[in-house]
Amino acid sequence: GPLPFACRGEVVRGFGRGSRQLGVPTANFSDQVVESFPSDIPTGVYYGWASVGNGDVHKMVLSIGWNPFYKNIKKSVETHIIHNFKEDFYGEILSVVVIGYIRSEKNFNSLEALISAIKEDIEEAKRQLDLPEHLKLKDDFFHLLEG
Ligand code: ADP
Ligand code: MG
Repeated sequence: GPLPFACRGEVVRGFGRGSRQLGVPTANFSDQVVESFPSDIPTGVYYGWASVGNGDVHKMVLSIGWNPFYKNIKKSVETHIIHNFKEDFYGEILSVVVIGYIRSEKNFNSLEALISAIKEDIEEAKRQLDLPEHLKLKDDFFHLLEG
């Protein structure tokens, strides 16, 4: 399959769909970067490693979804980095290595259900990324990005 998949690109503004208000801000890639993703990669939630600019490598969850703004004919790719940043980083270069799949895209009946699913995704990502074979990919992060 296409994993692990490494990619870097500028962080652009999303549509402010409230992810920050839910406590899970998601850094959005531009359409151009989204189009560089493998076209056959399933939509859903993934885990992996990420870094902003020349910063440290952190755990992340990344969602690939159908973008309602484009009537669901284009995808969006959004990364929540499991780290407390002091400031926003719009315009900076986000580097990601996508390692594994957590679940498919879902619709939720309530905000509470959505929030608890995201929290479970984050816990699952943390557990997975502590496995030796996944920690190894953190050490290989910059090599994977260089291809
Ligand atoms: P938008 O709709 O513009 O993407 P969000 O509410 O999803 O707005 O917030 C995303 C922005 O929050 C990112 O572009 C980034 O600048 C900032 N941010 C701060 N902390 C994080 C984090 N831990 N993970 C992702 N983005 C973060
Ligand atoms: Mg976002």
